[in-house]
Amino acid sequence: MNGELCSWGRYPYAPQHRHPCSWRDELQPLLDRLSRDPQGTLPYGNGRSYGDSCLAASGQLLQTRQLDRLLSADWDRGVIQAEAGVTLAELLAIAIPRGWFLPVTPGTKFVTLGGALANDVHGKNHHVRGTFGCHVQRFALQRSDRTEPLLCSREENAELFQASIGGLGLTGVITWVELQLMPIASSRIDSINVRFDSLAEFFSLSEEFDKTHEYTVAWIDCLAKGTSAGRGLFSVGNHARDGQLLVDDRRRLSVPLTPPITLMNKLSLNLFNNAYFHLHKPGRHASQGSYDPFFYPLDSILHWNRIYGRKGFQQYQCVIPDAAAETAMAEILASISASGSGSFLAVMKRCGDVPSPGLMSFPMPGVSLALDFPQQQRLQSGLFRRLDQIVRGAGGRLYPAKDAHMSGDDFRAFYPAWQQVDALRDPSLLSLFWKRVTQA
Ligand SMILES: Cc1cc2nc3c(=O)[nH]c(=O)nc-3n(C[C@H](O)[C@H](O)[C@H](O)COP(=O)(O)OP(=O)(O)OC[C@H]3O[C@@H](n4cnc5c(N)ncnc54)[C@H](O)[C@@H]3O)c2cc1C
Repeated sequence: MNGELCSWGRYPYAPQHRHPCSWRDELQPLLDRLSRDPQGTLPYGNGRSYGDSCLAASGQLLQTRQLDRLLSADWDRGVIQAEAGVTLAELLAIAIPRGWFLPVTPGTKFVTLGGALANDVHGKNHHVRGTFGCHVQRFALQRSDRTEPLLCSREENAELFQASIGGLGLTGVITWVELQLMPIASSRIDSINVRFDSLAEFFSLSEEFDKTHEYTVAWIDCLAKGTSAGRGLFSVGNHARDGQLLVDDRRRLSVPLTPPITLMNKLSLNLFNNAYFHLHKPGRHASQGSYDPFFYPLDSILHWNRIYGRKGFQQYQCVIPDAAAETAMAEILASISASGSGSFLAVMKRCGDVPSPGLMSFPMPGVSLALDFPQQQRLQSGLFRRLDQIVRGAGGRLYPAKDAHMSGDDFRAFYPAWQQVDALRDPSLLSLFWKRVTQA
């Protein structure tokens, strides 16, 4: 892609030119310059969003990854202030040896603080600690219509604080973030893995383990049919009570190039899923290990998104409210399994009721499912249309950070606060996603 930027799913393909910003005082002149394009620009962190929410309508991205300095840290209280381009991996490297951890982390540590805030990301402990935005105390926002950055908190510029958490990078460029970290006594995780045979079992395991464990998540065999439907592996963890505080910077494998076609097909997927399920013996298995493979198994293979080939892939992530979750998830899994498509990485997680300060946060009390599909034209008109119907009917919603297909009607119904965000949108910031779901 000649140094051009793209999203993690590499779909849609829309060439994006990078305009890096290394210093905070360069931001306003850069915004000024990029604002001359009638479609403006969009902040871009590390491109770990899957669809088009991190792509600029103009194709001109303002990249903040190089704003990567720690500005201050109070290690007694665990409060840090860092520039928006600092990644979670960089933060963990300085916080863990001092006995602090991220209060909320998504399934990759290669995201920036700005990106985590703008998508109000969630993790395996959503049922205990809510979203990333719940732990943000303050941040600074540079807008194209202001010369000085605005300080945003629950008290100061409160409307912009709420609109920017989960605000998809549209309310201004976040320059730094102040975050409350979580104390830990060890960098190791005590975990338990449980193989389960049905969706009903997933629900009873969630009910049981959500009460005792900080982290809970399940892998689902999305191709299993008949009596095996809904089977998977439930995985839970707590931070160990004592031990060393070690940063895990293990070596990584890398997918060196993009094959012309996807390596994920019906046969390889079936083999994978079957083998992975049977690799785990029935019963409950306790173990202790480093935090890294527990939280970030995919980070051990750099550029794994390349295995989907040149056409890329789409992730489908929905959340269904508790009351309808079991029935709707059974229908969703049956539709996916009948289509024969899907991914090895199907993740199911029960979300809790901790409210986010953000206006357009994705999680709701209920169950979330996320999985990847190799890109092909008929996804949109076939399987996704069917899945969208189920999600809509069950009162659920889709996750913009993963999306490349949601209709404008669905988005506006899923996120009724979108108009409040649009009213506070920086006039020079516009993503392909926002244009697609609010202006098309
Ligand atoms: C393997 C993998 C696992 C994942 N697991 C999870 C998960 O468990 N939970 C979850 O919630 N998400 C998950 N995600 C999605 C990911 O956490 C989010 O998409 C995240 O926001 C990406 O951050 P980024 O720094 O790469 O930002 P980008 O993807 O570059 O941008 C994301 C959004 O943030 C905005 N933005 C970026 N920087 C700034 C800034 N400085 N100021 C204002 N706006 C800005 C952009 O405009 C865009 O709208 C996962 C992604 C991957 C690849």
